[in-house]
Amino acid sequence: MTFSTLRSVSPLHIEYLGNMGVRATVAISLVQNNPGQNNLAKTNHLWGMVVCHHTTPRTLSFERRTICEFLGQSIAMELATKEANENIDYKLSLKQMQSRFVTALTQSSSLSEGLTQNPDDLLALTGSTGVAFCDGDDITLIGQTPPANEVSHLVAWLSKQFDQSKVYHTAALSKVYTPALNFEERTSGLLAISISQAQRLCVVWFRPEVLQTVNWAGNPNSAKTVHSGDKAGAETEIMSPRRSFALWQQTVERRSQPWKPCEIEAAQELQTAVIGLVLRHADELAQLNAELAHSNTELDAFAYIASHDLKEPLRGIYNYSSFLIEDYGDALDQDGIDKLNTLMRLTQRMENLINSLLRYSRLGRAALVIDTVDIHELVNNVIEMVKMSKSETVDFQVSPTLPAARVDRTQVAELFTNLITNGIKYNNKDPKQITIGHLSAQAAQEKGILPAGSEHLINSEVYFVQDNGIGIREKHLDLVFRIFKRLHPPKRFGGGTGAGLTISKKIVERHQGTIWLQSTYGEGSTFYFTLTGPKAE
Ligand code: ADP
Repeated sequence: MTFSTLRSVSPLHIEYLGNMGVRATVAISLVQNNPGQNNLAKTNHLWGMVVCHHTTPRTLSFERRTICEFLGQSIAMELATKEANENIDYKLSLKQMQSRFVTALTQSSSLSEGLTQNPDDLLALTGSTGVAFCDGDDITLIGQTPPANEVSHLVAWLSKQFDQSKVYHTAALSKVYTPALNFEERTSGLLAISISQAQRLCVVWFRPEVLQTVNWAGNPNSAKTVHSGDKAGAETEIMSPRRSFALWQQTVERRSQPWKPCEIEAAQELQTAVIGLVLRHADELAQLNAELAHSNTELDAFAYIASHDLKEPLRGIYNYSSFLIEDYGDALDQDGIDKLNTLMRLTQRMENLINSLLRYSRLGRAALVIDTVDIHELVNNVIEMVKMSKSETVDFQVSPTLPAARVDRTQVAELFTNLITNGIKYNNKDPKQITIGHLSAQAAQEKGILPAGSEHLINSEVYFVQDNGIGIREKHLDLVFRIFKRLHPPKRFGGGTGAGLTISKKIVERHQGTIWLQSTYGEGSTFYFTLTGPKAE
């Protein structure tokens, strides 16, 4: 009894066979075994059947039945090999396309460029007619796709459909996503890969609807028949197999060609390659940032130590030159004394330069002491200090509405001091005028003052220091922020080390702000700056 099995036969099936005039039947099922690759679960599914009918009753011997079973198993096994070898050329071309993509991606500057520079390949990779590359709100459409606004809604819906494999596909989109009814002619099939859920990065391929005609042996929907009269005489509805086996044609709508496993696999492999590249770029970027931060700290430390240690021998040179003049002045002629005086002046200048460098390096090292500072009051204090050190009369205009800001008080005072003293120093007008004011970045943008690429500052407050001084030529506008860069000979306009604006820039940047200027040569300059980062407002 080892091989005995008992199976009851459905009375509906017997009725169905009877309707066909069949008195004996044998069915060999072809069960296909799916080994469960690529995140697909291991499954057995009924691929098809070999069915033999006879018009007279017959029995099959045990041997024949065993042979039939063996045949069924052999055919099922053969099926897997047949399917694997099917379209071998197509699969090979998909593989070649994949490797072309990986090469293009590694060589291009951005993901979008790498993916979309060869649109035909991107379409052919999955045998699609349209594709959308979505990077947040940026959507690039290629070929036959739904309109951009529909794609954007579709992508929002898709983000909820991605399972762990982050691949989603369907050949009948409107069945799962009803808004697709609006554009289903162009898009009945959809295959999507998610690259980053957080950054809303994904690629979505589309296939159009393909009307298919299916031939049936009889209308399968006519299986339901009404039988009247139970014992109580009531009419009941029961299932009964169809009686007619005439050819019945069905038109299948709202479906695309199904996605072949090798096409889904190609999309999945592209996804793995892209994710790998994105992660590698992120890693490289993080490493570069860490190295940059490290070398910046080292540079600051180096500048500090070097300038600090340089001061000592410099002091020695200065002191020995002054001793020489004092003790051996009589033994030297005027030329010798002049040379020693020049040496002392040069060491003095070098000390000033070193002090500027020290100040600059300290700025990078010191922690910011952030406080809510009344900028109006701070500017007035700076003006008082400046007035004390300068004898000339200056016409100061300070906007009474200068808003308070969360900043480091000492550093921002130094910033205003640098800009105001420069406005007075590089000024040959009478009277000298300095205006300190503010405006919103929005207003600055409307007036065309906001520099290109600063749209991220749109919520910030823009402060400005304006003078009616000598102005700066257009070609020198970028140079003024370079350390030790002066546009004039050392003695003109009261001298200076050329570090004031470099220090000012560093102060602004430490507050996550931006500094820029507008100037008309001979008429005056305006230095604009923000004191907060884009989101801090
Ligand atoms: P310093 O004033 O010590 O020379 P800065 O870094 O403050 O150094 O300025 C660099 C150069 O930029 C100055 O030498 C000067 O030529 C120019 N400059 C700065 N501010 C102004 C201004 N308000 N008007 C005209 N030129 C200026």
